[in-house]
Amino acid sequence: PECSNMAEYIESLQRLAEQFGRLQGIGKKTAMRMAFSVIEMDEADAAEFASAILEAKEKIHECPICGNLTDTEICYVCDDETRDRSVICVVEDVKAVMSIEKVRGFRGVYHVLHGVISPVNGITPEKIRFRELIERAGQEGVKEVIIATNPTPDGEVTAMYISKYLKPLGITVTRLAY
Ligand code: ZN
Repeated sequence: PECSNMAEYIESLQRLAEQFGRLQGIGKKTAMRMAFSVIEMDEADAAEFASAILEAKEKIHECPICGNLTDTEICYVCDDETRDRSVICVVEDVKAVMSIEKVRGFRGVYHVLHGVISPVNGITPEKIRFRELIERAGQEGVKEVIIATNPTPDGEVTAMYISKYLKPLGITVTRLAY
């Protein structure tokens, strides 16, 4: 019989493949290949693999200032004293922080919303880190907010909503598409 059929009879292999299959973008075949790769690892590598998952889950949390992911108390951007705190770049998720950081041109700080306002999906401003943004932007020294939400309908709605709240505070609001 084929390997994939065989796997149905090996409960722990099936269980492992199911776990990989839960990952975003991983289909059944890929999940099974990944499970076989783990089986082929030696004991030490498998232990390292498992402990990397547990350590990441245990240590990684949201930065209390900007919402970026970090395994230190505050994230490396907020911790960097050379970054310009008068400019806040608003993004939907941590992946956007990573892609902007890769370019290395931006020297301000971030605010991660962890979502966008989406009337269709019932996501209201209260369900994302909107209030935290308004509070931060209202602090002394903040001059500019760059809104870098994605150019989707929800991203645009969110950008307009944020802009409406920030402009009366005397903050320069810039819409960035990337
Ligand atoms: Zn931070």
